[in-house]
Amino acid sequence: MSARPFQTEDSALRPLADKVLASTRLDAVDALALYRSADILAIGWLANHVRERLHGDRTYFNVNRHINPTNVCVAACRLCAFGRKKDAPGSYTMALEVAWQTAASGYSEAVTEFHIVGGLHPDLPFQYFLDLISGLKQRFPGVHIKAFTMVEIAFLAKIAKLSLRDTLIQLKEAGVDSLPGGGAEIFTERVRHIICDHKIDGQQWLDTARLAHQLGLKSNATMLYGHIENDEDRVDHLLKLRALQDETGGFQTFIPLAFHPANTPLQHLSTTTGFLDIKSIAVSRLVLDNFPHIKAYWQMMTPKIAQIAQRFGADDLDGTVIEEKIYHDAGATTPQGLRRQELIRLIREAGREPVERDTLYRPVTRTETSVTVAV
Ligand code: SF4
Repeated sequence: MSARPFQTEDSALRPLADKVLASTRLDAVDALALYRSADILAIGWLANHVRERLHGDRTYFNVNRHINPTNVCVAACRLCAFGRKKDAPGSYTMALEVAWQTAASGYSEAVTEFHIVGGLHPDLPFQYFLDLISGLKQRFPGVHIKAFTMVEIAFLAKIAKLSLRDTLIQLKEAGVDSLPGGGAEIFTERVRHIICDHKIDGQQWLDTARLAHQLGLKSNATMLYGHIENDEDRVDHLLKLRALQDETGGFQTFIPLAFHPANTPLQHLSTTTGFLDIKSIAVSRLVLDNFPHIKAYWQMMTPKIAQIAQRFGADDLDGTVIEEKIYHDAGATTPQGLRRQELIRLIREAGREPVERDTLYRPVTRTETSVTVAV
């Protein structure tokens, strides 16, 4: 813990600091005050205090591989540069063999997780996704499969003409181990109507997450910030996630996602600033008191900002990724993957202790020839 006392010139932060130091839950007024304050060092001090109370100096990372089986999507969200209509230039759909080969091509680093998300393809049958997952499990039985956002789950249920519950059960039986946190965007309808009109609404996203958690599938949660949302929208989003977490305890990690406008219909908007990126991490650490982990996703924030975020409330950097498509289609200039040693260097240089984890945050121990996950 920091030996330095809390200091701020923003009087709105003082009562809120007392609450944080007493481990008292912040309310909507507090959360708004945090977003409206420019005292980033004071907010960061508080977020770091909570982060160190929970995790000490540990910063988690994993060795994972992203697989995006198709970019064909019926939704046409304005926030998106990844999805394409079926016959549009650049659209693709991986044959199952290709998807399995893609998984294998990054396997030399002893990957512990496949992160699988894609577009809402109008013609791919549900069986394709079941076969994709069971084929991966067969070939890589030791790899955790984190697959399909709540938006994809709801779409697959429609395609399969199944209830959400039965869709989730079948995917789980095929080998899905947990769910990623994407598609949450911003829950407020006013914003959703503009940035992702054709997606499930915020309530449906939360209901799908609730069901997944009840069926024993952990998930992450995200918030896309830096577009047309305001501070109230952000606070509403965080509080809805916190309320669901109180109910289910099924969220592992919250990931604030910086909006990348390039190549989207919203490309007239500016990219996020480093200030907002850091503040988004810190505020989420302070408001989401029941989320174990806050991730600074280096692909979206850049490795430089994600590294600094380890002193502003984040305790996770994500993973090696190997080949990222979604944010790179939206103009991200970060590398498409980072080697394990580079992640470790970023963490050590921030004065933190790198801990390689699996998807469920169990420490992974490596020797030259083997990988062991502590259970
Ligand atoms: S954000 Fe997802 S659902 Fe929306 S268009 Fe892009 S791929 Fe499709």
